This record gives sequence, structure tokens and C-alpha cells, in this order.
Amino acid sequence: VAPKSATGPPGPPNLEEVSPGLYSYVQPDGSWCLNNTGLLVGGGRAVVVDSCATEARSRAFLDRLRRVTELPVTTVVNTHHHGDHTFGNFVFEGATVIGHHRCRAEAIEAGLLMKRVFPEVDFGDVRVEPPFVTFEDRLSLWVGDLEVELRHLGPAHTDNDVVAWVPERRVLFAGDIVFNGGTPFLLMGSLAGSLAALDALESLGPAVVVPGHGPVCGPEVFEPLRRYLRLVGELAEQAEAAGYGPLEAARQADLGEFAGWSDPERLVANLHRARSELRGEEPARPLDQAAIWAEMVELNGGQPLRCWA
Ligand SMILES: [Zn+2]
Repeated sequence: VAPKSATGPPGPPNLEEVSPGLYSYVQPDGSWCLNNTGLLVGGGRAVVVDSCATEARSRAFLDRLRRVTELPVTTVVNTHHHGDHTFGNFVFEGATVIGHHRCRAEAIEAGLLMKRVFPEVDFGDVRVEPPFVTFEDRLSLWVGDLEVELRHLGPAHTDNDVVAWVPERRVLFAGDIVFNGGTPFLLMGSLAGSLAALDALESLGPAVVVPGHGPVCGPEVFEPLRRYLRLVGELAEQAEAAGYGPLEAARQADLGEFAGWSDPERLVANLHRARSELRGEEPARPLDQAAIWAEMVELNGGQPLRCWA
């Protein structure tokens, strides 16, 4: 059993109506595997944005949304392939699962890998149910008369990031391009692409941002994320110039204003990504994941990565 933080287990998830018929479902504390999801109700149907990591958490989301609507959940939108956003797709029986073309491929390739990364978590009977309606750049989904633009950006957090943008309400479901209070994670994405994606999201002019992890926020969330990413880039450049690797760079790094963000051990993965891009490799190029997960554990004082899922 992994050692748990001294702060104790986080509080229960919260479903909140952020605009009429549009809900955020936030799972504190937003650290490893504790993602947010969305619910959009209208036109005689319900649409969800992402599922949860475990069977129990996904069924709890379904139970909770049943307290605000009896309408059938006809559609699941996946913001990217990671298991914390997709493993629970199967609880929405009969729903159409929509995602980026690469989301399907990556979900199938990764399989249930996350169960091995977090062996102490009881995932339940999760299975891979990837998107079976896929798109490349943009797709409009109509929730009654309300247009929900599904837009692919990146590579940023992964190579298959999709946000759900509701222009009429200025509500943005940002997926893991946006962490609020948690450390961004670029192991499977891109540093330069993440910076560009944050600029693109800000230029949409959202009033409400539902991040992939952490509390619901507004556009003030973007700039600190950009500052963190620029710091990662600078640390990677310094390390390259001095001839040491990402783990050493991460050990020496002063995280400053970002030291309080959850899961700081992601820094070493982010530095691997930054180094890859400094060397001119293409964004989202596969890195040695097993080795980098091991370095995150090392940076975490040799302790397994804390996961409350
Ligand atoms: Zn993710």
C-alpha cells in the first residue's frame, strides 16, 4: 500500500451547474487520477464530458448526475485517451463515445496500463471502451439548440486533446490542457504545443473554465500555467548547457510559486519532454515511459506516486 499524504483523503466530488444545463463534476483534490468531468443537458438528452478512473468513481458520477436529470446519457465525449478520463466510459451503456482519431488509437494501445502505474488503486471492472466516433479537427455537437464545439488542439497534454467549447455561454471544458492547482504533465504531449494551446484557449474568451483537474476557474488560470511551462523550458535549457539530465535538473530546481501544486514529481517528465523538443524532435514523440515513471518515483523520495482514486 502506498503511503498517503498527511493531509488525509480528499473530500467528496461536487456537481455544480456552471450555466443553465451545463455542469461541472469536480473530484477533489485533482491529483493523480482525480479528474473532472462535465454534464450537458438539453434537447431530450444528456451528454457527458469524460468518465472517471475507476468503476466506483464512474458509477458515483452516474448516480450523482441522475439527481439532476433522468434523461438518457446518449453521448460521452473524451477529452483525451488517459485512463482517468476514459476507463469508466462503459458505465454509460449504449452511449456514443466521441473523441479525436488519435484518442481511439492511443486508448487501445495503452490498454489498462494505468492499473500497473497505480497498483494500490481498486479500479474495479474497468475496460477499454475507446471513442467509436472520431474526428480530426472540429466537430459540433448540439445539446438542444446549444452548440458545443469539440476542438482538437495540440499536441499539448497528449497528441489527442479535445476541448468542449460552448461559445454562447462562454463555458470551456478544457480537459488536461488545463490543470488548476496541479502540475501540468507533458510526458505524452508537447511543451511548445501546450503553450500554443493555452494561448488558443485564452483567445476563445471563456468566462468559465472547467479544468481537467482542480477547481472550476476563469481565464486567470492560463497565465500561471504558461509561467510554469516557460520555467520548464528554461530549466531544460540550463541542464542541456551544463550537461546534466532531467532527473538532476529536477532535483536542483527551485519551483518557487509552483511548489504548492500537487504532483510536483511530474517536473522530471516535463523536463524530458522539453529536452526532446530542444533537440528538435517532433512534439508528442514517444519517450521511454517506464524509465520516466521510475524517475518520478525517485523524485518523489522513492515513494510510490500518491493516488487517492
Ligand atoms: Zn491526462
